[in-house]
Amino acid sequence: MTNQNVIVSDRKPILGSKTITVSVSNSPLFSTSPPTYFTFPRRKLLQLLESNNMVGTPKISSWVDSMRDSSPTRLRSSSHDSVLENDDKNSWIVRFPSALNMFDEIVNVAKGKQIVMFLDYDGTLSPIVEDPDKAYITHEMREVIKDVALNFPTAIVTGRSIDKVRSFVKLNEIYYAGSHGMDIEAPVKENTCGENNQGVLFQPAREFVPMIEKVVKILEEKTKWIPGAMVENNKFCLSVHFRRVDEKRWAALAEQVKSVLLDYPKLKLTQGRKVLEIRPTIKWDKGQALTFLLKSLGYENSEDVLPVYIGDDRTDEDAFKVLRERGQGFGILVSKVPKETNASYSLQDPSQVNEFLKRLVDWKKKSVGEE
Ligand SMILES: [Mg+2]
Repeated sequence: MTNQNVIVSDRKPILGSKTITVSVSNSPLFSTSPPTYFTFPRRKLLQLLESNNMVGTPKISSWVDSMRDSSPTRLRSSSHDSVLENDDKNSWIVRFPSALNMFDEIVNVAKGKQIVMFLDYDGTLSPIVEDPDKAYITHEMREVIKDVALNFPTAIVTGRSIDKVRSFVKLNEIYYAGSHGMDIEAPVKENTCGENNQGVLFQPAREFVPMIEKVVKILEEKTKWIPGAMVENNKFCLSVHFRRVDEKRWAALAEQVKSVLLDYPKLKLTQGRKVLEIRPTIKWDKGQALTFLLKSLGYENSEDVLPVYIGDDRTDEDAFKVLRERGQGFGILVSKVPKETNASYSLQDPSQVNEFLKRLVDWKKKSVGEE
């Protein structure tokens, strides 16, 4: 397998210089051969990254309604509603069939192709829990991810900081794309001195780190009177968690979050499952991270690659959309409830994700044995 690793050269602030140095190595994924470097104009990259897609800020009430609807445990008020809900679910599952039921069709398409696996973390590998600091994965899930990574290039793509998600996953064999893809690192390699060498591939929002730190402090102060509100620093972005906040206070919390942004026009708000997120207004998301990783693996124009992205949240839709537009690979939405999505298949929860990944590894091992 030929891989082309495209690497922003070091950890220096990339926005402080006129050029950005990127290294390219046509080397196997885990090779220790040194990359070659080239430099291109900083302005050009920034023009690509600067957001020109600022959407109108939604109303607080629409965020709150949407967050409420994203709760699968929400009770329906009447039997009429549950009949409608069942109808919805039946027609939805026809449109987005279970990836487990469609497994044979999926591996048929994968024959002779290199699967590249992209996995969201929260709600996909770990269950959604009240305390985001305790979103642990099971031992079984860790083992299966390790197996997946041994058989396919594998990346975890998450809104969390890399440090946080790595502390949960505890695996060195995979790519991590943290902060919604704004922080991408290659698998850890041990150098000849026995030291771990973490490969920073790309950090397009480095200049925003101090701003994010400042906004985290302001928001912690502004929200401390709201019981259960939690602000999480994800390094290049931040999350305000609503999960432990009384629903009656959601609008007030959203209002506080929105008010802070008035002073920070270079930051924007996005919404996830019971979370509001503040991110730099650069045009970079999980979909762009997927494209970047495919390119850095040498699969930009390959016909023989099958990217598979599994995720549960709105931010994962950017990646599903990229796959649809490429006409290559497919997205799998993790959801128990019908949702509009750009994915092709569905799985209900992390335990089904575990089963799907396990079957994929077994299929791969079997197909290698048959070659
Ligand atoms: Mg998620």
